[in-house]
Amino acid sequence: MPDGVLEVLEPATEAVLQELPRADVEDVDRAVAAAAGAFPAWRAVSPGDRAALLQRLSDTIREHREELAELEARNAGKPIGDARGEMDMVAQVFSYYSGSPERLLGDTIPVAGGQAWTVREPLGVVGLIVPWNFPLTIAAWKLGPALAAGNTVVLKPAELTPLTAVRFAELCLEAGLPEGVVNVVVGPGSTCGARLVAHPGVAKIAFTGSTEVGRSIAAGAAQTIKRVTLELGGKSPNIIFADADLAAAAAAAPGAVFGNAGQDCCARSRILVQAGAVDEFMGHLEGAVTAIRVGDPLDESTEMGPLISASHRAGVASFVDDEAPVAFRGRAPDGPGFWFAPTVLCPVDAGARAAREEIFGPVAVVMTFDDEEEAVRLANDTIYGLSGSIWSQNGARALRVAHALDAGVLSINSNTSVRVSTPFGGFKQSGYGRELGPHALDAYTEVKSIFYATNV
Ligand code: NDP
Repeated sequence: MPDGVLEVLEPATEAVLQELPRADVEDVDRAVAAAAGAFPAWRAVSPGDRAALLQRLSDTIREHREELAELEARNAGKPIGDARGEMDMVAQVFSYYSGSPERLLGDTIPVAGGQAWTVREPLGVVGLIVPWNFPLTIAAWKLGPALAAGNTVVLKPAELTPLTAVRFAELCLEAGLPEGVVNVVVGPGSTCGARLVAHPGVAKIAFTGSTEVGRSIAAGAAQTIKRVTLELGGKSPNIIFADADLAAAAAAAPGAVFGNAGQDCCARSRILVQAGAVDEFMGHLEGAVTAIRVGDPLDESTEMGPLISASHRAGVASFVDDEAPVAFRGRAPDGPGFWFAPTVLCPVDAGARAAREEIFGPVAVVMTFDDEEEAVRLANDTIYGLSGSIWSQNGARALRVAHALDAGVLSINSNTSVRVSTPFGGFKQSGYGRELGPHALDAYTEVKSIFYATNV
C-alpha cells in the first residue's frame, strides 16, 4: 500500500472498509490557511445567525442519523444501538451550543473615571485532535463550543476511524456553514497532529487520547503558548459499599466497564467492593457478565463489539496471561475480528499492573476494602482522576466519599459520566479543562476587558 493511501479497516471482519488519501504536513498547512481565511467572516456572523446555523447542523445530523451510525458502528466496531445513541448526542451537542452565541455574556465592573466591562472573544483557528473510541461524539464535544464561540477549526480524527469526520465535513456544508469553517485532515498523529500542535497559526489544541500523547502536546504547545485542553486516560473506581443495592450495582457494573468493549476513558475498571458483600456481589456479577452478547456490531441484539485493532487487542491480552487471577469470563466469537471476551480478575492486589494501568479493554479488576477510609484511599491511589461511582444507600456517606475522591465526574447509585449539559473532564493526569455544559465555552474564548473613560 503506498504511503499516501490509508486503508480503513472494519474491526469486526478485519476487511478494508474504505481507502482514503492520507494527508501530510502540507495538507495540514492548507487546512489551517483555509480556517484562518474563514475566521474573520465566521466571527462576524451575527449571534442569532450563528445560532440558527448550529441548529441547522443539529437537524442535518439527525436527518443522517442512520447513515452516520452505521458508518461509526462498522468503522469503530461498536454496537449499532450504541452508535445511534452517539449520533443523537452529536445532534444534541450542536442544539445545546446553538443557545450559546446569544448568551456569551460579559460583566460590568465598577471602576473610577469611566465604564469597564468584559467581552468574550473567539481564539481563532482551533486544532481538534480526537481518538478512535467515540470518533464523532468526542469531536462534537469540541466542535460545538468552538464554533458557537466564533472559532474556525481543523479536525484531525484518528487514522483508525476517520470516516464519520469526513462525512461530517460534507454535512456542515449541506447545513449552510461557510467553506473553511470546519476542515478535516486525515493523517497520522505523529506528523499531522504534531504539525497542528506546532503551527504558529493555531491558537489552541483540544485533545482527547492517551496521557502519553497528551504530555507531548502540552510540551509542544508551550513553544507558541497555545491554549490546550486535555481529556486523557482513566482508571476509574466503582465503589460498592455493603449497604448498597448489590443486585442493582452488579447489574450496572458490566455496562460501566465493558461498554464500548472497555475502550472508554471513563470505564469503571476498578471495582472496589466492601468485604462482607464480595460473595453476594460476585454472584450477581458473574450472571451479568456471562450474559453479555458479544458479536457483529450491526446485529441489533449485540451489546459488545470487537476491539479496535490487532495491536490494541495484543495490549489488552497482556493483562490476562496464564498467571492472571481470572474469576470468570464471558464469550466472544471465533474467526476474523479483533474479539476479546469480557473478563473479570479477582482478587487483584492494589499494586498489580492490572490495577494500576489503563487497560482500555473489557477487563475489570475487583478489589476489596474494609471501611470508608480505605475505599477512598484505594480509589485515589492512581495517577488518574477522571470519573467514578459510589453505590450506597447511606446518602451522607455517599456524599462524603464523592467530596473525598480526586476525580472530575462522579455518580452516586449510577454509572453515568457524560451529559451534554454538565461539565466533563479530569483531575490529575486525566487532563485539564472541561468539555460540555456551560464551562466548555471558557476553553474556546479569551476574556477581554475594556475601559471607556467618561471624565474627558
Ligand atoms: P493516542 O493518544 O495515540 O491517539 C489519540 C489521537 O492523537 C489520535 O488522533 C492520534 O492520531 C493523535 N496523535 C498521536 N500521536 C500524536 C502526536 N505526537 N501529536 C499529535 N497527535 C497525535 O491514543 P492511541 O490511539 O494510541 O491509544 C493508546 C491508549 O491511549 C489507549 O490504549 C488508551 O489507554 C488511551 N486512549 C484514551 C482515550 C480517551 O478517551 N481518553 C482515547 C484513546 C486512547 P493517529 O492515531 O491517527 O496517529
